[in-house]
Amino acid sequence: MMIHSTLSGNKEPFQPIHKNRVNLFVCGPTVYDDSHIGHARTYIAFDVVARYLKYRGFSVFYLQNLTDVDDKIIQRASELGAEPASLARKFEKRYLEDMHNLGVTNVNFYARATEHIPEIISQIERLMEKGFAYETQTGVYFDESRFEDFGKLSHQTAEDLERHRIEPDPTKRNPGDFSLWKKREDKEEVTWDSPWGRGRPGWHIEDTAITETYFGPQYDIHGGAMDLIFPHHEAEIAQMEAASGRKPLVRCWMHTGFLNVKGEKMSKSLGNFVTIRDMLQRYDADSFRFFVLSAHYRSPIDFSEGALEQSRRSLERIRQLVKIIEEQLECSETPETASEALQSEVDIRLAEAKAKFLEFMDNDFNTPYALGAIFELVRDVNRRMNEKTISRKALGDAKNLLGEWEWILGISFSSKGPEPAQKPEDLIGSLIELLIEIRQKLRDKKDWQLADDIRNRMKELNIVLEDAKAGGGKYTIK
Ligand code: AMP
Repeated sequence: MMIHSTLSGNKEPFQPIHKNRVNLFVCGPTVYDDSHIGHARTYIAFDVVARYLKYRGFSVFYLQNLTDVDDKIIQRASELGAEPASLARKFEKRYLEDMHNLGVTNVNFYARATEHIPEIISQIERLMEKGFAYETQTGVYFDESRFEDFGKLSHQTAEDLERHRIEPDPTKRNPGDFSLWKKREDKEEVTWDSPWGRGRPGWHIEDTAITETYFGPQYDIHGGAMDLIFPHHEAEIAQMEAASGRKPLVRCWMHTGFLNVKGEKMSKSLGNFVTIRDMLQRYDADSFRFFVLSAHYRSPIDFSEGALEQSRRSLERIRQLVKIIEEQLECSETPETASEALQSEVDIRLAEAKAKFLEFMDNDFNTPYALGAIFELVRDVNRRMNEKTISRKALGDAKNLLGEWEWILGISFSSKGPEPAQKPEDLIGSLIELLIEIRQKLRDKKDWQLADDIRNRMKELNIVLEDAKAGGGKYTIK
C-alpha cells in the first residue's frame, strides 16, 4: 500500500511501527462555531482512510483532539456573554452530531485539550530542561533556532521561514518562536496554574501532549488539511522530536486539499461557507460523501450546488442497479446458474473489478478512480441483465462486492425504495429550486438584469429570495 507523505513529498510504502497496528491522529476542530462543509471534506477523507486500513486488516486506533481552549473561543464567548467552557461544550456536541450525520464514525477517541493540561505542562518542562524553550514576561516560547530540522515538513529554508512572522512580541528571542504557554492573569480568561504562573497552553502543544499520552513519542499517520502544514504541524514536529530526542514523530504525514468555492478556500473568515447542518437540509449525507470522494483527497474540490446534484445523480445510478439486482434475486424467473462459460466470464469480471478497486485504493486512496471501477461494473452488470445472461449466483456475488465497497466508502448503495409521487407543494419547492439554480447560472455569467428580474417576479408572488455568498440562495414564502 502506497501513501503520499508530505514530509518526503513522495508516495511511500506504508509500514506501521507495530506490525499491523495503526495509530492515526487527525487534528480536530476548534469548537467555537458550527463546522462547515470544508471541515467535513477533511474528516470524510480521513474516515475513508480509517475504513480502508481496517478493511486491509490493520487494527486502527483513530484519535482526534478537540481544541476547547483558544483565542477564538474566548473571543466568541465574550461577544455572546457566555462562559467559554459552556460555549465550547455546545459546539463540541454539535460537531459530534454533524460527524455522526455524515457517517464519520471511525474516530475511537476524542481528546479535549483542557483535559490534558498536566501532560502539556510536563512536555513544556522537558523542553525547558533541554534548552529548547525559554520563559519571558509574556509566556513560554519554543526557540526555533535550536531545532535544526525546523522547516522540514513544509520544505522551507531558514530564509523562507524568516518571512513568516507570528505574534510580534518583543520578549521573544526570534520572531518565529511560537508560544507554548501564554501567561494570563485576566480573571475573564480560562487559566490554569503552571510553573510559569497562571495561563493557558499555546495551540501546537496540545496536540503533541495528547498524541504522546495515547501513542507515545512516535506514531504512524498524522492528518489534517494542507493549511495546517505550517506552522502547526511543523511546530508539532519540533516540540515532540526535541522533547523525546526521537525522530520521526510521524511516519506518514497526510494532508487534504481544500474544499473551495469558486477557487477560494471555504472558510469562516471569508464568509463563503455552508455549514454541514445547512447542507444536510438539502442533500443526503451519502451524496455529499460521494461528492467528496469523487476528487482525490489531496486535490482541491470546488463546491457548487450543481456538482452536488451531479453526485446525487451518479449515486442514484448505483442505487438503481442494486434495486434491480434485489428484484431479480426475488424473481423466480431469474436462472439459478448460467452456462459454465458465462459463469466463469462473470467471475473473472467481478474479480477484475475488485482487484482494480483495491489497486486504486492502495495507490494513495485514489477514490475517484475507485469510483470509476464501480461504474465499470455497474455498466457491465446492467448490460448482462439486459441480455439476460446473468445468473442468480452472479447477481448475488455482484451485490456482495458492492456491499464491500459501500462499507469502505461509508456510502449506502441501498435503494431507498421507489420515489413517492411528488405532492403539489413539493413540486412548487422543486420549481423554486430550479429557478434559484437558473438565477445562479445567470449571476455566474454576470447577467444581473435577468437575475434581478427573476427575483423581483418571485417577490411579486410572495417568494422572498436571499442570495447566499457561496452561490444559490434560500427562499421563504410569505
Ligand atoms: P479548524 O477548526 O479551522 O482548525 O479546522 C478543522 C480541520 O478542517 C483542519 O484540518 C483544517 O485544516 C480543515 N479545514 C478547514 N477549512 C477547510 C476547507 N475549506 N477544506 C478542507 N479542509 C478544511
